[in-house]
Amino acid sequence: MGETVGWDPFLEKRRRLVEQLAAEGVVKTERVKEAMLRVPRHEFVWPDQLEYAYADTPLPLGDTGQTISAPHMVAIMNELLEVQVGNRILEVGTGSGYHAATLAVLTCPSLDSPIPLVYTVEINSSLVKFAESNFTRLGFSRVIRVIEGDGSKGYPDASPYDRILVTAAAPRIPPPLIEQLKPGGRMVIPVQSRFFDQNLVLVEKDADGRVRKSNAGPVVFVPLRGEYGF
Ligand code: SAH
Repeated sequence: MGETVGWDPFLEKRRRLVEQLAAEGVVKTERVKEAMLRVPRHEFVWPDQLEYAYADTPLPLGDTGQTISAPHMVAIMNELLEVQVGNRILEVGTGSGYHAATLAVLTCPSLDSPIPLVYTVEINSSLVKFAESNFTRLGFSRVIRVIEGDGSKGYPDASPYDRILVTAAAPRIPPPLIEQLKPGGRMVIPVQSRFFDQNLVLVEKDADGRVRKSNAGPVVFVPLRGEYGF
């Protein structure tokens, strides 16, 4: 009532969260910071979690058993990905759509791309609908395409990708994802090395197609399902 159009009651909370992540050294670059400042996380959380939207914690997505990742994890993954403007990106595990929205800002700051640049695959049909309605309402649907299906096999139709992000823990790096990564590309994926032992892995493919993996530290993600999942 009477507010300026576009007025965001959560802006101050979002700024504080992003400043906190920057102070902790989790947000390192101006680009990742900008993307997190621009994307309204409270529009992606399940309605009953609204008051926690800017707490640095994962939040349940209704009764799906899935979660929206914690903001610090989104920041860490985005810093590792080093997204460049114009990159074609695959995300496996759309969930709420929040992480994909930050990727959309990183690859297409105007959000006005003639073709989709972020392809995000989700296996749970109610989350596909949830994310799609979020993208439509918030103006992301030109840049982001949601695909319902098993993302452990990637999405060959729009491959190869400059960047691949997996937001669920895999038992090993799915070979189709390595195939669908461009030479010079980067992939970030949580991998469960032993029983309860998950690590974030950065995969870099060089110009000759050689693959180098490095460990970016321990993490906790829901399991990846599907053919190359659990
Ligand atoms: N990136 C999300 C968080 C995702 S949680 C966000 O920003 O909110 C992990 C998601 O991966 C869940 O929604 C789960 O349903 C999905 N998932 C698990 N296995 C999958 C698979 N094989 N293909 C596609 N999505 C998968």
